[in-house]
Amino acid sequence: MSAVRTALYAQVADIRIDTNGRDAASVHGAVESALGLVDIVAREPRRLDVESPRGAYAIHVGAGLLADGRQLAEAIRGRHVLIATDANVARIQLPVLEASLRRLRPDLVIAVHCMPPGEAEKTLGRWQEAVAALAKLGATRDATVVALGGGVVGDLAGFAAATWMRGIDVVQVPTTLLAMVDSSVGGKTGVDLPAGKNLVGAFHPPAAVIADTAALSTLPARELRAGLAEVVKYGAIFDATFLDWLDDRAEALLAGDPEATAEAVLRSCRYKADVVARDPFERGDRALLNFGHTFGHAIETEQGYTGATGGLVHGEAVAVGMVLAARLSTALGRAAQADADRLLALLQRFGLPTRVPAGLDPSALLARMRLDKKADAAGLRFVLWDGAGRGVIVRDVPESAVMAVLAG
Ligand code: ADP
Ligand code: ZN
Repeated sequence: MSAVRTALYAQVADIRIDTNGRDAASVHGAVESALGLVDIVAREPRRLDVESPRGAYAIHVGAGLLADGRQLAEAIRGRHVLIATDANVARIQLPVLEASLRRLRPDLVIAVHCMPPGEAEKTLGRWQEAVAALAKLGATRDATVVALGGGVVGDLAGFAAATWMRGIDVVQVPTTLLAMVDSSVGGKTGVDLPAGKNLVGAFHPPAAVIADTAALSTLPARELRAGLAEVVKYGAIFDATFLDWLDDRAEALLAGDPEATAEAVLRSCRYKADVVARDPFERGDRALLNFGHTFGHAIETEQGYTGATGGLVHGEAVAVGMVLAARLSTALGRAAQADADRLLALLQRFGLPTRVPAGLDPSALLARMRLDKKADAAGLRFVLWDGAGRGVIVRDVPESAVMAVLAG
């Protein structure tokens, strides 16, 4: 190659590949991986540091973090580890996590506690089994619970960590999109009682969150969509431009594109971490995160908890709830109809339900909402919006307006 050409190429090139002594196939491979910059970016773990009353913690997001294992190994202080998980996740993700941990931390004494999957298992009985497993392990005050699974495992294992010896570390390793963007961040832990969801629990922020987006590849499509509803929620209450971003990336997110997924998880965690840092114990702003949830919980309770009965899963119920909250905002003159229409369209793009399931009685739903924790003495309290991106807590919402939206 002439010196002139070499100099010119050096000036304009974005990527340089040495072809000396390489065959065509090998050059082809090098070009492909150099052009696959997007993929490389996605594989690079990203980190978000979060303040909490128990001290700062890191949220790591990236594809392959469980196989890598470094972030997990570094988050464990003592010698005892209880990995809490459910039967599905134990089959799919546990072997990788356990192998990483044993490779990087041969000093650890590790036990595994596995529960059956499903919200119906988030009980005091299962909590008792988890703390019994800690006792059997001989867990000391510097022991760590690793919560490997969806929101159910995270809440239950987090509560076991919160209560064992008045509180030991929990590392949240969420394996559902919903848990990555919502339940693993912010420190709420607990179990359900027959009288209602999450009635017994504690604020217990994690020592670290490790969100391996590669784990989502085995998640059923329905669960992925349900998680996307909570992602949409952040745009709805905090940032209209995030709704545009989601609209742009809808196909990529549904296809599990690693770059778009990592970005959506990280941005969601940031919105949540910001509001939780301002209001860790939900005395004010944090309640905005309940957008769509007063309606959603009423639907969930009225239909009976699990999706197994043919009803909606949590994220789906929240999708319907957000549509109703947006309609109620329009009816109360707080927001334009166009905002509600736009939210509806985005949720539909994600394949989420947007109507109250047939057979649920509006007055029964209203009665459920009167019992909701978010109803205070003065009347029904709702999280509504003053248009896309501007969530607002509204007290004394007239029941007639709520009924009109439910029946409509
Ligand atoms: P959520 O995180 O939505 O609150 P769960 O903890 O109930 O929900 O998890 C939803 C279901 O998905 C459970 O049956 C659980 O075993 C299963 N699950 C969790 N993570 C994965 C995964 N990465 N791949 C496949 N199934 C998973
Ligand atoms: Zn939720």
